[in-house]
Amino acid sequence: MKKDFDAIVIGSGQAGPFLAVRLAAVGQRVAIIERNRVGGTCVNTGCIPTKTLVASAYSAHMVRRAADFGVQVDGTLRVDMKRVKARKNEITGKARSGLESLLKNTPNCTVYRGHARFESPQEIIVGGELLSAPQIFINVGGRATIPSMPGVANTPYLTNSTLLDLDVLPRHLVIIGGGYVGLEFGQIFRRFGSEVTIIEMAPRLIAHEDEDVSVEVQAILEREGVQVRLNATCIELKKFRDGEVGAHLDCTEGVPEVTGSHVLLAMGRASNTDDLGLEKSGVARDGHGYILVDNQLRTNVPGIWALGDCNGRGGFTHTSYNDFEIVAANLLDHEPRSVTDRITAYNLYIDPPLGRAGVTERAARATGRRVLKGSRPMSRVGRAIEKGETQGFMKVLVDADSKEILGATILGPGGDEAIHCLLDMMYARAPYTVLKNAMHIHPTVSELIPTILGELQPL
Ligand SMILES: Cc1cc2nc3c(=O)[nH]c(=O)nc-3n(C[C@H](O)[C@H](O)[C@H](O)COP(=O)(O)OP(=O)(O)OC[C@H]3O[C@@H](n4cnc5c(N)ncnc54)[C@H](O)[C@@H]3O)c2cc1C
Repeated sequence: MKKDFDAIVIGSGQAGPFLAVRLAAVGQRVAIIERNRVGGTCVNTGCIPTKTLVASAYSAHMVRRAADFGVQVDGTLRVDMKRVKARKNEITGKARSGLESLLKNTPNCTVYRGHARFESPQEIIVGGELLSAPQIFINVGGRATIPSMPGVANTPYLTNSTLLDLDVLPRHLVIIGGGYVGLEFGQIFRRFGSEVTIIEMAPRLIAHEDEDVSVEVQAILEREGVQVRLNATCIELKKFRDGEVGAHLDCTEGVPEVTGSHVLLAMGRASNTDDLGLEKSGVARDGHGYILVDNQLRTNVPGIWALGDCNGRGGFTHTSYNDFEIVAANLLDHEPRSVTDRITAYNLYIDPPLGRAGVTERAARATGRRVLKGSRPMSRVGRAIEKGETQGFMKVLVDADSKEILGATILGPGGDEAIHCLLDMMYARAPYTVLKNAMHIHPTVSELIPTILGELQPL
């Protein structure tokens, strides 16, 4: 027998649950379907667990550096991976159960556990039950890409999900991929005490950033003993004698084989749209498997929307949540909102963190506009000097004619927070001179932003 709803939400990531609650609050009968753990990637295998590990790793790092600050720590440092994992589980568990009870306690909202598949543009099958609704919201997220290279089938490897289940310290973690997942895990495990090698096929890490950012991020990691292999393409995973695992590389420099105790595949994300029965819905995808959507996140099929990582328009928790806000505003608040209203912004949570907003220097140049740039190394920022954390730099890009801020990078202590003062100015579309003349609090990293804006030079 078919069960009728007003709306069906597939996936309980960073958009689906909040949309389900909003729709239910206006009296719609809503079904939300989750095949795994409520909260999706961010809560269970992404942002939240990794940031708890970043915090544990930071405390190990600061204990090692304690003497620099005049603090003596007697005895040997030992990282208790079981306790690290327990702390992570406690924090993610609270986030997950908070969401679970939100859904459970929402009137008009029914939670289904199981894998959802389209039967037709208005019908979904889950656990043998057929559900139908005139509105379907897809929020199925993504998973780690597993390439079909030789050796993958018979070599043990870890992903961002399975690495989080470890409660022992890898002796040597070989990470394939120098993107943000690989770099965060690389520094975390190095600080815990593992040997770490990061293998990247591009000539630099995080190659979508400006070169000065890639170079400084690499230097930060290498200063802590992370080994970085660039221009090295992993062409085969291998099992070696004595239980060692590793990668065979296509490279012109360095040894062609890297071995360690564990391999982490951090080679990007694949969209969870391949097993949704989309062919029965008529919903179109692009060549990478992302669902094609317009600026209000509507698919090509009326009555079906796609939100979060599966639409290829974001790739972060905040973009997925913003997708929810856009859909809710358009459908329920009669407030037209569009994906094009948002400004690119994200952080890389190595330590010190990288905060980014707007365009890179390379992209700013490519626009052909007259661009001004201001920058300053953290070694000339009082707050960074006081904290003994002078790695990194900040830079701001401004349109010389409109005076709008085009982009900003803060790689340094507090960069993940300080970036927001630039981001908010960008949303306000205020001329940079407003921020240049603002009085900021001393001593902070942010207090140097008005100073930088007073020293702009043509790019
Ligand atoms: C290691 C790591 C660290 C990260 N750190 C950050 C960070 O610091 N900040 C940040 O902003 N982003 C970070 N991200 C990215 C962020 O986690 C994702 O962008 C975000 O979680 C995407 O949310 P979503 O709503 O698209 O879907 P997801 O959170 O992926 O949720 C999708 C849900 O749909 C379910 N599902 C899939 N298919 C079906 C189906 N057919 N039937 C039923 N259910 C289904 C899945 O089980 C899942 O629960 C990180 C990602 C990783 C991997």
